[in-house]
Amino acid sequence: MMFSDRLNNAFNIQIKNELNSAYIYLGMAAYFDNEGLPGFAHWMQKQAQEEIAHAMKFYTFVYDREGSVELEGLDKPKADYESPLAAFQAAYEHEKYISGTIHHLYELAQEEHDFASRPLLHWFIEEQVEEEASAKAVVEQLGMVGGSKTGIFMLDRQLGAR
Ligand code: MG
Repeated sequence: MMFSDRLNNAFNIQIKNELNSAYIYLGMAAYFDNEGLPGFAHWMQKQAQEEIAHAMKFYTFVYDREGSVELEGLDKPKADYESPLAAFQAAYEHEKYISGTIHHLYELAQEEHDFASRPLLHWFIEEQVEEEASAKAVVEQLGMVGGSKTGIFMLDRQLGAR
């Protein structure tokens, strides 16, 4: 069934949103590497890779539907954060924002009666539950250790195992 221009455009914007996410997390990885926290940096690098895979899922789907990908420009990511907690809070907030964009796409697909988009969007709806939970778990752990250098060091080792 025909992929509407409206949905095609919205999927193209989501490709940008996912790549922007990758860029934001790569910026966070660089912040952690600058701070001498390679485990946190590793976690963020893995996250950035996942976001690229998300973008590619949308990219592939657009062509499977005989649509056309048009890439948008990426935003310059933030390079510095007040603390590891501030960075993870920003990551958590960003994932909540992305969940909203996925839900918006789902609404749009409903409006367009585009049933073929549903399995992909269902996958993303579930994925966002996990993304929010995993960022929030680290926010909570960082909240527990507070400013403790030992706590941060131990968390760095733990996140490095991702
Ligand atoms: Mg994503």
